[in-house]
Amino acid sequence: MKYDVAVVGTGPAGLKTAEQAAARGLKTVVLEKRAKVTDSLMGELVTDKALRLLRVRPDSEYVGNKFSAIVGASLDTGASIAVDRRLLGNSYLLDEDRCQELMYERAVADGAEFRFGARVDSVTKDNGQVTGVTYNRGADSVKASLTVGADGSFSRVSETAGFTHPKWLLSYGIRFKLANCKNIDPETAYFYVGRDVGLGYLWLYPRSETEVNLGIGRVPTTGSEWHSLPPMREVLLKYMRTHEETRDAKIVGANGGVVPCAGLIPRFTDAGVALCGNSAGQVSSIVGGGVTTCLHAGSLLAQHAQRMVEQDDFSRRSVYKYEKEYRGSKLAWNIQNTGRGMWAVSRYSMLNDPLEAAEIVLRELDAATLNEIVQGHISVATVMRLFTDFLPMVFKIGRGYLKSLAVVGP
Ligand SMILES: Cc1cc2nc3c(=O)[nH]c(=O)nc-3n(C[C@H](O)[C@H](O)[C@H](O)COP(=O)(O)OP(=O)(O)OC[C@H]3O[C@@H](n4cnc5c(N)ncnc54)[C@H](O)[C@@H]3O)c2cc1C
Repeated sequence: MKYDVAVVGTGPAGLKTAEQAAARGLKTVVLEKRAKVTDSLMGELVTDKALRLLRVRPDSEYVGNKFSAIVGASLDTGASIAVDRRLLGNSYLLDEDRCQELMYERAVADGAEFRFGARVDSVTKDNGQVTGVTYNRGADSVKASLTVGADGSFSRVSETAGFTHPKWLLSYGIRFKLANCKNIDPETAYFYVGRDVGLGYLWLYPRSETEVNLGIGRVPTTGSEWHSLPPMREVLLKYMRTHEETRDAKIVGANGGVVPCAGLIPRFTDAGVALCGNSAGQVSSIVGGGVTTCLHAGSLLAQHAQRMVEQDDFSRRSVYKYEKEYRGSKLAWNIQNTGRGMWAVSRYSMLNDPLEAAEIVLRELDAATLNEIVQGHISVATVMRLFTDFLPMVFKIGRGYLKSLAVVGP
């Protein structure tokens, strides 16, 4: 049997593509190497846009918690800054398992077929056109008009279809789910910087008064600095030991992953094949946020898949229309800019101390300004003030930014 769409991977990108493709009446098959759709790291902290894309309400069972304040702090000096609700857009903690089940069940109800325990080895090609994939060491295969590589940062579809990402900055992260915590304020989420953390941040997102998600994400800088840092797991365990709230906590879940943070890869479509999610670099780089961008990309790709089926056209030019529309979106623009910013930060940190910069920001930036930066609608007046207040730092980062533009290209 030949499918319209074969999706590889059941992260947020693959599930959304499958859910929307099936809803549009396309014959859809999904291949996933894991045994089930739940118990993976989908990504948890999101804003209203992700809930709209998921089509869930803020007060539904798919949302584990809602935060009214976000605090940034230094683990070394205790310097901190808080952004409260009056300034902050809504921030939610997803119930990842329920959200994944929801997309899976919607897709199944609309006729999508899921094959778990299916580890894709390679795409198959006919005259340069991708025609499907083989999986489980060649024991099985599927044929499809469009193959979707939603198989994460180390995508087999991407590699075997011949896509390249010449220089790709990666962020490595792990996360513990903790129970049995004490005196947790469930309405406040915390971000920490510190010597042990390296270039990245440690986060604490409460799920309730006794449960939190404690995680850390880190980007390699120089090899020697990376190896001199304590392992990320140790940093989380140290945090637990040294904080009263988590000292007696139990680790009830642990997982991790890798997130690209250098922006979109140069090309993510070709004849009969398209990438979606981490595999295409569709992640907001500075914070490593991929849920919203993956859901958005999956929806768009399904729309285009329907067009391709209706026109019976899976040529390179036809599939590229998805990429073209994606690249023109506001989210893609953000991804590209934060990707360039991330190159700048990583270059800056090879020559300077990024933690010193973080400490300056924590001590001297006010909550309103931080909120403007986080929300992405910073005013000209604020930019001018920041420029004067942080002139030496801005100058150094600016140099790094220009260099990174040269590395990334236009
Ligand atoms: C520790 C951590 C915390 C994060 N927190 C957040 C957050 O709070 N908010 C946010 O927005 N983002 C967060 N992110 C980022 C977000 O999780 C990712 O960007 C997002 O999950 C990417 O989705 P994806 O569908 O592209 O890929 P993935 O989620 O990586 O899914 C890929 C899927 O493909 C499967 N697969 C891989 N190879 C094969 C193969 N060969 N054959 C078959 N199946 C295969 C995998 O098993 C997996 O299920 C976090 C990431 C990490 C690592």
